[in-house]
Amino acid sequence: MKAEIIAVGSELLLGQITNTNAKFISAKLAENGIDVHYQTVVGDNPARLDEVLEIAKKRADVLIFTGGLGPTKDDMTKETIVKHLGTTLVSDDEALLYIQQYFERSGREMTENNKKQALVFKGATVLPNRKGMAPGMAVEKDGVRYVLLPGPPHEMEPMFIDEAIPYLLGVLGKIEVITSRVLKFYGIGEAELEYRIQPILERQTNPTVAPLATSDAVTLRLTAKAESIDEALKLIAPVEEEIRSIVGEYIFGTDEDTLASKAADLLIGKGWTISAAESLTAGLFMAELAGESGISSSLEGGVVVYNERTKTEQLGIDTDLLDEFGVVSAECAAALAANVKRKFGTDIGVGLTGAAGPDPHDGKPSGTVWIGIAMKDMEPETYKLLLSGSRNVNRLRAARFALFYLIK
Ligand code: ATP
Ligand code: MG
Repeated sequence: MKAEIIAVGSELLLGQITNTNAKFISAKLAENGIDVHYQTVVGDNPARLDEVLEIAKKRADVLIFTGGLGPTKDDMTKETIVKHLGTTLVSDDEALLYIQQYFERSGREMTENNKKQALVFKGATVLPNRKGMAPGMAVEKDGVRYVLLPGPPHEMEPMFIDEAIPYLLGVLGKIEVITSRVLKFYGIGEAELEYRIQPILERQTNPTVAPLATSDAVTLRLTAKAESIDEALKLIAPVEEEIRSIVGEYIFGTDEDTLASKAADLLIGKGWTISAAESLTAGLFMAELAGESGISSSLEGGVVVYNERTKTEQLGIDTDLLDEFGVVSAECAAALAANVKRKFGTDIGVGLTGAAGPDPHDGKPSGTVWIGIAMKDMEPETYKLLLSGSRNVNRLRAARFALFYLIK
């Protein structure tokens, strides 16, 4: 299997930019056992690109193009190759939708020539562009594979690793299985996570490591390809271990785990009972736990104590304590946890108090939350959060953080 890399762009010939794409692609192909026999650079000129195509298809089985997929007039890679292949360009629905959404998000007007970016060869495998607009594509003609990638390295590199390499290994019959493992994080943002594991993200090949933030967790998907699932898992294990050594404190589970399911596993597994006194969350913490089957052996009950009077009357929270520290305080959260635990006779008591927002509460800025967790005979532990979401986002996050601290 012989590959040729064809970088398209007059700025490369003028010496205005360095052909780092060829360097990157060559290195990754070598790692994957595909030999590169030629690297070619050609300007934004259809006739000369055509000449290059004629030569390249005779001497290589895989032709990898970068550059010229954009919306402007000088971007003519697709238009030239399509004539060469004798096929047509069709609009890819998914790519077009993605481009439309991209413009909607940025609040800009989408111009007609941007639709050009969603055009792909009829019957081609579309390689989604997660960092930009123009998708890549891969197609076969007369035993030669044509792979087209965008020019900007920050778009081309992830597309090459996540899409083009699997495509090539797949069609070249080098791959049998792909398997993934998802690590789930709480209490760390996606950007911070990416920053902390940057070296791992940069050198990733097999397994690939893909971050994703969902509404209830930040996740990392480790995907490996090998001849068997066991082999693939063996490739994933050391990378997972390395990630855990850096940011393990934020990992609460894997794959299908949720904070609530992990908390339920812990409580049921240990045979522990739990109760909660909720102020700002007003029952959300209990509701999260109550969604887990089998939890009735552990979840005894709880109280919503939303104002000062109910905190005092229902749970005996000392008015002097509230006067001195305020309701949004470590002292109040600890007292809620300890008193609800005593009142319900459970192994664990959880207290939640805070300023959900948008306004400050009791002199504490919006988003300030205190969580108390009283375990068995131990003094309650308290945790402070400074959340920055809207009112209901903060309330849900507070409940989930309480689950997170419970399982940690
Ligand atoms: P766009 O949609 O941004 O126009 P494109 O796929 O049309 O992308 P080009 O217009 O050819 O790509 O190149 C865009 C930019 O990508 C170039 O200005 C350059 O910064 C970078 N680039 C292109 N080719 C290479 C290369 N071979 N090596 C490194 N950088 C490159
Ligand atoms: Mg361009």
